[in-house]
Amino acid sequence: AKSEGRNLYRFFEPAMDAIVQARRALEVDLDAALPRQEFDLDFQPIMNIASGEIIGAEALMRWHSPARGNVAPDAFIPVAEETGLIVPLGEWALRQACAAAASWPPGLRIAVNVSAVQLKSGGFARSVISALAFSGVPAGQLELEITETVLMDESKAVLSTLRQLRDVGIRIALDDFGTGYSSLGYLRRFPVDKIKIDRSFVRDMGNRDTAAIVRTIIGLGNELGIVVTAEGVETEVQLDMLRDNGCEEAQGYLIGVPSKAADIQRLLKARALR
Ligand code: C2E
Ligand code: CA
Ligand code: CA
Ligand code: CA
Repeated sequence: AKSEGRNLYRFFEPAMDAIVQARRALEVDLDAALPRQEFDLDFQPIMNIASGEIIGAEALMRWHSPARGNVAPDAFIPVAEETGLIVPLGEWALRQACAAAASWPPGLRIAVNVSAVQLKSGGFARSVISALAFSGVPAGQLELEITETVLMDESKAVLSTLRQLRDVGIRIALDDFGTGYSSLGYLRRFPVDKIKIDRSFVRDMGNRDTAAIVRTIIGLGNELGIVVTAEGVETEVQLDMLRDNGCEEAQGYLIGVPSKAADIQRLLKARALR
């Protein structure tokens, strides 16, 4: 059996080498992309369902690679997390997002995604507070979106970083809510201001069981005084269901697609004038 295993390895070796090399090439390109200014942010509007007002936008990272074309964040963020590049890249995104929000009408929220790797790296709270100070955006207008994986290791350092951020008025949102493990326990232990219902639930709301889950999450948020945002809202039917169930905020293609900084600024200004 042992020699069989060796034969099998020999059989797959060329394919394995190709995978390792492709991955290595991606890491090299990704590393060079930040100094070459190949990254950019799009902004997707977020709406208050009851009033219909746009209350802010989420920053979404884009990589325009001359060699690879546009690479989706789901393809490069995990690699950047593994190499550690996400720390300077995430800091760049935070500063860039705050700079953009500084020219929006006052009071609008800017949401920025934060990786677990960033949160666990030293000095994260300091770098966020410095980005705010540099841009002049008030802390109360910044929302950091984290996923449950951040909370999973229950480290004291993460908890204290989140508390520090919240103490200065920054809001913490739990992203992709419902897709991880034991989400409910985290709501009790960690300071969270908002939960974002994952778009897979919103997509399947036509299904009775999924609709029940969405209603339950909204009810839970309302009970705990946590704002609930639905992600991936694409149809009027979905929006109506969310409104009927007391969901406060919606984000998705129906409300607005991710757009360039200049376009979102124009949209926000036009809305503010109404
Ligand atoms: P996410 O934070 O859950 O972001 C929402 C994703 O859903 C975005 O994908 C957005 O373009 C997409 N989306 C928005 N509305 C709709 C809709 O109505 N229907 C559908 N089907 N999709 C919709 P995107 O831009 O490809 O980003 C993917 C993920 O990459 C994000 O998921 C987030 O986890 C991560 N990401 C993006 N930017 C950053 C960043 O600056 N830092 C970190 N750490 N992660 C980021
Ligand atoms: Ca997000
Ligand atoms: Ca999400
Ligand atoms: Ca996601």
